[in-house]
Amino acid sequence: MRKKTVRDIEVRGKRVLVRVDFNVPLTPSGEVADDRRIREALPTIQYLLAHEAKVILCSHLGRPKGIEARFRLDPVARRLQELLGRPVHKLDEVVGPQVEAVVHAMRPGEVVLLENLRFHPGEEANDEEFAKMLAGLAEVYVNDAFAAAHRAHASTAGVARYIPAVAGFLMEKEMDYLSRALQDPPRPFVAVLGGAKVSDKIGVIRNLLGRCDALLVGGGMAYTFLRAKGLEVGRSLCEEDKVDLARQFMEDAEARGVSFLVPVDVVVAPEASPEATCRVVPADAIPPDWMGLDIGPQTVEQFSKEIRTAGLVFWNGPMGVFEIEPFAEGTRRIAQAMAESRGITIVGGGDTAAAVERFGLSDRMSHISTGGGASLEFMEGRELPGIVALQDVSS
Ligand code: ADP
Ligand code: MG
Repeated sequence: MRKKTVRDIEVRGKRVLVRVDFNVPLTPSGEVADDRRIREALPTIQYLLAHEAKVILCSHLGRPKGIEARFRLDPVARRLQELLGRPVHKLDEVVGPQVEAVVHAMRPGEVVLLENLRFHPGEEANDEEFAKMLAGLAEVYVNDAFAAAHRAHASTAGVARYIPAVAGFLMEKEMDYLSRALQDPPRPFVAVLGGAKVSDKIGVIRNLLGRCDALLVGGGMAYTFLRAKGLEVGRSLCEEDKVDLARQFMEDAEARGVSFLVPVDVVVAPEASPEATCRVVPADAIPPDWMGLDIGPQTVEQFSKEIRTAGLVFWNGPMGVFEIEPFAEGTRRIAQAMAESRGITIVGGGDTAAAVERFGLSDRMSHISTGGGASLEFMEGRELPGIVALQDVSS
């Protein structure tokens, strides 16, 4: 279902409540360590300002227990002000009479940032009264916080019951790209899955198996699949209680004619440390006391071939323990194959996005999702409360 965006609604002269994701990492001294999330929200904010809206921004930051000074949004407001090049009026409360007084005195083109939404217990509880108070601040609601869309909180879902609710540009871009993978993707559609555990990705595997042409599995979760093929995996990460499920997935893939690729060779070491002695071994010759920490060069070749010729690739989960250099090569080469692919390339997942960024290849991907948990739930085929709450184009 297509959702309305800021383009589909009159915002001129109106108070517009915008849910953004300003949940940025902070330095020990409390400054913004990485402003990517703030920059991602700029197109929507700038559009609203250009259309003479009164912009009321709101976000959560971290996991405060009640009101905690270190989770106030002041450093975010300072950075936003620099990026926008105009004043940002940061308030010290989320809702209440003082907030109401300020927003009712706003003029078109002004920007207000509310205090951390999670200072209010009603936010995560999706409390009706709190949602009503938030909605009462504005005439239109815009959700641009895709990364929080899998949570049914007052600011992501509740508020939409009271005022017209539409998507911002970042939310629109996320929905466009991710749904391209799920609805009639350009073929072949290749899914590359890795990361630590099968148990985190069961829903995604299940949903994509019925949709993709090839599923390539690397990372720590590959060893559960190798185990399901009857191989010994030494001390590699392996979820014994998921071995049967892994076998079922492979059988299901075969029945559907989906090629299911698991590593044919792996990088093993006695331990996951930068000094460890590494060896490349065939997947059926992992020594008993060693652990698999990356995919091997032959596997890289096989996976890369699929990726380069794909119509669309969705990648979630590093191929190895990429945080430690000796085990980063598989992930790096898969990122390179993505960069060289002729197809649409979509990256989901926080660690995968961080890896691509570290390799300097972010600009070469069609889309890097800003939502870790949200992008996974989307790819599981689930409806996200923050998206469901938005108006459909037809209505
Ligand atoms: P994402 O955040 O992109 O969804 P995950 O959180 O699922 O990714 O997985 C990332 C983690 O998986 C990384 O910290 C990485 O070190 C770990 N990992 C990858 N391969 C292995 C492996 N062979 N053994 C243990 N951990 C692994
Ligand atoms: Mg992760």
